[in-house]
Amino acid sequence: MKSERIARIEEKCRARGLALTVQRRLILEALLDRTDHPTAEQIHEAVRDRIPGLSLSTVYRALDTLVDLGAARKVSHAGSVVRFDPNVERHHHLICESCGDLDDLDASVIPEIAFPETGGFTVSDFSIHFIGVCERCRHSTARRQNHV
Ligand SMILES: [Zn+2]
Ligand SMILES: [Zn+2]
Repeated sequence: MKSERIARIEEKCRARGLALTVQRRLILEALLDRTDHPTAEQIHEAVRDRIPGLSLSTVYRALDTLVDLGAARKVSHAGSVVRFDPNVERHHHLICESCGDLDDLDASVIPEIAFPETGGFTVSDFSIHFIGVCERCRHSTARRQNHV
């Protein structure tokens, strides 16, 4: 699955006259391995041992290229740093107000939403952020309250 996806992305790179360099490939693999919507810093941390001298700005650029190629998406919400998502299918996010965790929510669990009719704006996709408290945080709050 993963290698198929990498092959498809490699093809897209070639079509644009870009090489899927070893660096880009390792960064892409590191992103595909994660479901926690990592930041560029986290990806940098994950691969820097394997790419000597890799700078954070190179990671940013590589991730931006992957976003341009449609291989990843940027996810951000107010007050948070930009995170990267290898899941480019339509899905939504559950954001914990307490710890900032960002989880995927399958689009099929919410009712179908039609693209709005607008004047000049062409809607191509949408993503909903549901804000709340994650299970882990809810448990730790409950524990704290029980002790008081
Ligand atoms: Zn939380
Ligand atoms: Zn996601």
